Amino acid sequence: MVIKMKKKSIWSEEIKCSIFPKLNSDIDVDVLIIGGGITGINTLYHLVNNGLSVCLVEKNLLGSGVTCRTTGKLTYLQGDIYSKIKENYGLEKAKLYFDSQIEAVKLATSIIKNEQIDCNFEKVDSYVFVNSDNSILRKEQRLLEGFGIKTQISNKLPCEEKKVNGFYITDSYVYHPIKYIKSLANICKSRGASIYENTKIISIKHNDNKYFCKTKTNIIKAKHVILAVHYPYFLKPLWMPFKCYLEKSYIEAFRTDTDYKFSAISIDKPTISIRYYNNNDDTYELFLGESHNLAVKNNEEQNFQNLLNEKSTKPSYLWSNKDIMTIDSLPFIGKIDDNGLLIGTGYNTWGMTNGILAGKIICDIILKKENKYIDLFNPYRNFGLSILKNGPLILGSNSLALIKTKVKKNKSWYSDCVKFERRDGKDIAIYIDENKKEHIVYNICPHMKCNLIFNEVEKTWDCPCHGSRFDVDGKCIEGPSNYDISYKK
Ligand SMILES: Cc1cc2nc3c(=O)[nH]c(=O)nc-3n(C[C@H](O)[C@H](O)[C@H](O)COP(=O)(O)OP(=O)(O)OC[C@H]3O[C@@H](n4cnc5c(N)ncnc54)[C@H](O)[C@@H]3O)c2cc1C
Repeated sequence: MVIKMKKKSIWSEEIKCSIFPKLNSDIDVDVLIIGGGITGINTLYHLVNNGLSVCLVEKNLLGSGVTCRTTGKLTYLQGDIYSKIKENYGLEKAKLYFDSQIEAVKLATSIIKNEQIDCNFEKVDSYVFVNSDNSILRKEQRLLEGFGIKTQISNKLPCEEKKVNGFYITDSYVYHPIKYIKSLANICKSRGASIYENTKIISIKHNDNKYFCKTKTNIIKAKHVILAVHYPYFLKPLWMPFKCYLEKSYIEAFRTDTDYKFSAISIDKPTISIRYYNNNDDTYELFLGESHNLAVKNNEEQNFQNLLNEKSTKPSYLWSNKDIMTIDSLPFIGKIDDNGLLIGTGYNTWGMTNGILAGKIICDIILKKENKYIDLFNPYRNFGLSILKNGPLILGSNSLALIKTKVKKNKSWYSDCVKFERRDGKDIAIYIDENKKEHIVYNICPHMKCNLIFNEVEKTWDCPCHGSRFDVDGKCIEGPSNYDISYKK
């Protein structure tokens, strides 16, 4: 199979070049935010509005991480999440999470309105559906009705004749995540925030009541540091892997004549998600399918092909994305230690609401204000039943991925463009491009020492254990690794 179309997300058309400088001096601030995705920018917004001196650094360009590859739905209707939380923690906590998502949607609406942000923000109906057994669907619907939400039953999606079991709500939204992020960043800048792109934090140390965060050339001193980096590298190595796994999905965007005003997500597997995006000249359907635990399926070519088979159309854009799924379906937002290190991540593919909410919660924690969601999202909460239920599954799939990387350290798995060797006692991997040029990398992920698998579609070295990705010359393009794997003679 040869896949020929723009292999990038539709939103990345808005990320062409830097709009903020690279850091080139030492600075001292109240708060340093690491990461310029939905979490980082929203946290910046609240902190700046409260008069703190804040700096945000992004290692690449603003929005270029996971946020750029989302489907951009802003909704409290999130598959069967309330049933899952109820099962883990009971009705009260499920209701509290529901309240938080309603609040997040309201917060987003008010920021977009009050700041007059032009980001294709549109009200649409939001559907949840199943193709088969509808008992889970009805459970979720009853829960929402119990929370006071009026839902409507539907046996088909507006875009298809095919029968499904589903229901929908009428008060949800879609938007353009990158236009939102860029506008909010400019607003924060005009209110005094410092923002730097192409500036990577390589170490964080705490001393004398301050954090000292190093880039290659400078030091940023800060009383508080926010890890808005998606999968954090700076924590103890085993902090994340036992509490979450990564889910990867494949998405296509193709031109269509009708601009349907709805979005939809299925709750049976494989997950299907649909939304429409109109950019004045063209309407696109965004179709997501073929989701899987990152550690489980590693044949990218097959995964993309399955997506294309499902929709059998010629997309204009084709991309993949992965998000952190937590063991108990609740995000990690809050304090990592008592010195001033905080985090916002683990959004279970609902980061447009949770990233926006994280900004407000983190700001309230720093300002010592009350916030009713602090305990719910506490990264050190007692995980109770969910650890017993999901822990072995996560450990099992992570171990399987590690074993797979050892097995796939063999040329027989690939076409002729990949070789493996040992040089100076180290494993190296070689990709040979169309011009017969060799690109050599160390075949080991700096994060937790898994070997890497070559992705022949996107031409990257991927770690199936925790999702780090490197280009053919070893530059780290996605974490959790914070280091490159370029081979040095
Ligand atoms: C397929 C898919 C579809 C989705 N669709 C939706 C949806 O419709 N609605 C919804 O609510 N959610 C959705 N999500 C979830 C959502 O996209 C994510 O949860 C959210 O974007 C995560 O944002 P973030 O800010 O935490 O991470 P990111 O956007 O990845 O931001 C982190 C940033 O930190 C930077 N960084 C990392 N390390 C460093 C360092 N050392 N120094 C400086 N910078 C650093 C990175 O470059 C990156 O830009 C989807 C997820 C997936 C996988």
